[in-house]
Amino acid sequence: MKLSLIALFVSISLMTAFGQQKHFATQAELDEMTRALEADTSLAKFIGWHDDPETLYHNYKTNQHMADSIWRSDQATLSRMDIGETETFELIPLIDWFTDSDSLQGENGVSYLIKTDEATILFDMGLNPMAMHPSPLLHNMKKLGVSMDSIDLVVLSHTHADHVGGPEWSMKNTFSLSNYQIQLDDLPVYTPKPMTYPGLSPQYTPKPAKMAKGVATIGVINNPIFLNNIAEQALAINVKGKGLVIISGCGHQSIEKIVQRTDLLFDKPMHGMIGGFHFPMTESRNITWIYKYFVVNKMPWERLSDEDINYNIGLLKNKGVEFIGFSGHDSCDRSLSLFEAAFGEGFTRIVVGQTISLH
Ligand SMILES: [Zn+2]
Ligand SMILES: [Zn+2]
Repeated sequence: MKLSLIALFVSISLMTAFGQQKHFATQAELDEMTRALEADTSLAKFIGWHDDPETLYHNYKTNQHMADSIWRSDQATLSRMDIGETETFELIPLIDWFTDSDSLQGENGVSYLIKTDEATILFDMGLNPMAMHPSPLLHNMKKLGVSMDSIDLVVLSHTHADHVGGPEWSMKNTFSLSNYQIQLDDLPVYTPKPMTYPGLSPQYTPKPAKMAKGVATIGVINNPIFLNNIAEQALAINVKGKGLVIISGCGHQSIEKIVQRTDLLFDKPMHGMIGGFHFPMTESRNITWIYKYFVVNKMPWERLSDEDINYNIGLLKNKGVEFIGFSGHDSCDRSLSLFEAAFGEGFTRIVVGQTISLH
């Protein structure tokens, strides 16, 4: 075993045994933050709601160090998976920003129903911003003729409120399809963090795992932002005659890491990516002003540019990706139009009620 690997394992076990080793922001980094916060008082106020900025910066450096260690260790130890393939691939958007008709409800959240040969998967549970019952998710399911009985398993991408059914459930480290937790009989639920649910034992899936024929989680990828750590998993679905389709919640992992992880796990071409990319450049539609403070690989005072978006488009193009299903829930219209221009006929907006099928 290489010395660097030994050092890595020792440092991880030390961190496990003695808690996190603290890492600190440099004086130059703190000075840059001070200048940025002086120039943007609304950001300073927003950060102030969370904690003292200097403490947040030190925590961020520590989280970043920890996430890097886990990432390097996973990439060094994970091996190829054979998950088989599915002939059927249908994705029915149940919750997203855009809707097909006024009888369906759109919101700043994500919930997709994915049908494969062996399993029908509910991926995420939306936001339910008004804490309604029935929630927009249940309302849309009814309109689209989707019953709970048809769902074989549930996968949660990450624990942000717009994916677990609302802030109340996110804060309690659980999830919900409506404004109360309906009974879910023996439903397998795969989560990116240890979570609870009355009467169920959700299964924490930190590492890549096959969930059904042609369906796997690529495992949890940690990607800290300034305000906290984000642990997110995506699905990889191997569609016969096409290749891998990645299903993303918010895409906080970064496209770079999703592509690297997919390369490592599968000896298959990457055909498409569907879901959230988290590219809020401008405040178009109702992409709330807060979103721009949660951009991966950016500090809250740094903004996304066209170059950033085009860099990510390039990563997907280099990988041979031909199909993009783009969520409007966490990206602005500018990002959407850049992706549309780059992928042409292979681009589609995710619209509640419009099924995406690949044949
Ligand atoms: Zn989201
Ligand atoms: Zn998110």
